[in-house]
Amino acid sequence: MAEDALKDVPDGVPGGVPGGGAAERRDLAVRAAVGQGLVGGDDGAEALVCLLDADGIEASAAALRAAFGAAVPPGTPVLHCFAVKAAPLVPVLRLLSAAGIGCEAASAGELALARAAGVGADRTVLDSPAKTRAELREALALGIAVNADNAQELDRIDALMASAPSRSPLGLRVNTQAGAGAIASTSTATATSKFGFALRDPGAREAVVAAYLARPWLTRLHTHAGSQGVPLALSAQGVREVFELAEEVNAAAGRRQIDTIDIGGGLPVDTGSDDTGPTYAEYVRVLREVVPGLFSGRYGLVTEFGRSLLARHGLVLSRVEYTKSSGGRAIAVTHAGVQVATRTVYAGASWPLRILAYDAKGVPRGGDALVPQDVAGPACFSGDLLAEARPLPLLRPGDVIAVPGTGAYFFTAHYAYNSLLRPPVHAFRSTPDGLRFTLVRPAQTLSDLLQEAGARHRDALLHGARSSPAGV
Ligand SMILES: *Cc1c(COP(=O)(O)O)cnc(C)c1O
Repeated sequence: MAEDALKDVPDGVPGGVPGGGAAERRDLAVRAAVGQGLVGGDDGAEALVCLLDADGIEASAAALRAAFGAAVPPGTPVLHCFAVKAAPLVPVLRLLSAAGIGCEAASAGELALARAAGVGADRTVLDSPAKTRAELREALALGIAVNADNAQELDRIDALMASAPSRSPLGLRVNTQAGAGAIASTSTATATSKFGFALRDPGAREAVVAAYLARPWLTRLHTHAGSQGVPLALSAQGVREVFELAEEVNAAAGRRQIDTIDIGGGLPVDTGSDDTGPTYAEYVRVLREVVPGLFSGRYGLVTEFGRSLLARHGLVLSRVEYTKSSGGRAIAVTHAGVQVATRTVYAGASWPLRILAYDAKGVPRGGDALVPQDVAGPACFSGDLLAEARPLPLLRPGDVIAVPGTGAYFFTAHYAYNSLLRPPVHAFRSTPDGLRFTLVRPAQTLSDLLQEAGARHRDALLHGARSSPAGV
């Protein structure tokens, strides 16, 4: 491929949305959400809503496809799958699917969401460290690609393949043990990671090669090299090691047995700023330097990005309910807490979030002196804070705070502490008449909550209660 083709790859996305800077577009969305009564005062408006920028998601999907598309020879199969866990919302999966992105699922629930979104089996990949026999049987019957995590899972697949043919592309997930990133809990390539066949353990590499040679139907090789906190160079190093393993397997097999390399996801997003880097184009540039063979056209490619497709396009809005002072510290009590930002509340140093202040009409609170404030959530434990001693204009009851960078793994991964209801999610798009909102996920209702909390089985634990059939 000509080197200069890369120059055509749109840069500045994720985050960059055609027709305006991220901050201006966000201000517009807050103003419109308040103006249209989606969030705000006590007059029936929600105290807490979540927004997704549908134009932004499409722009990120287009940037992903363009970056890889420009780097491979024409005709090379490239399948981009969205890691469903980052934003398990059917309309989002459907939007991404329409933008040419399939699904990476890691549970029966995520598979069901992908299917509900109309994502075909040929554009779905199942990865999970704990697939049950039933899940494997279903995936193989449907023709969904499966990456086996360990030798025992491979035994199960052997049995299924012996009993019925499958058109599922099958592969092994390997852990290159290339090293940890800055955040231990999301580092996949550590020496002792729970994921995949650990490649550097004594005898492991030989065993993996032998596993391929014994199974002509193993045609893929998978790693999820990066994650939040993992530098691009380290992710690329992991991909290179997987590429070299594919070459070794194919040399030993004397044919191109492995025809597709799945490089996983893991492009980090700095939720602490509007800075859009690193972009997909930058990642592709680093990959081309470190592992040029990946783009030779000799292998099909699969990717599984999650955070980088969605994070920047999500925004939490909450009304400030009360303000107070304690021990000299100003505190704003809001409705955005541990239920929508679990990682930030429990591990704030690794998952910092920005807090932006708006007035009750959704206008940015500019010009006021900044006062260190705790921004507290509604949950009943003292650590439920989205920010501590954060310099902000002194918040007032009725003001609105916005929390950007929350489109992946935040409100889409609701944490049901204190029976706090799942807030509604609306998506917005630019139209000639301004922003138009569409409901993506309705708010959880009290009646939903009661059902999920076993309200129908109210008397189940009373002595003398008639036993009800299981599952009813
Ligand atoms: C979580 C996950 C991804 C997505 O990771 P991001 O950091 O969100 O891009 C991709 N593949 C696998 C196997 C994962 O577990």
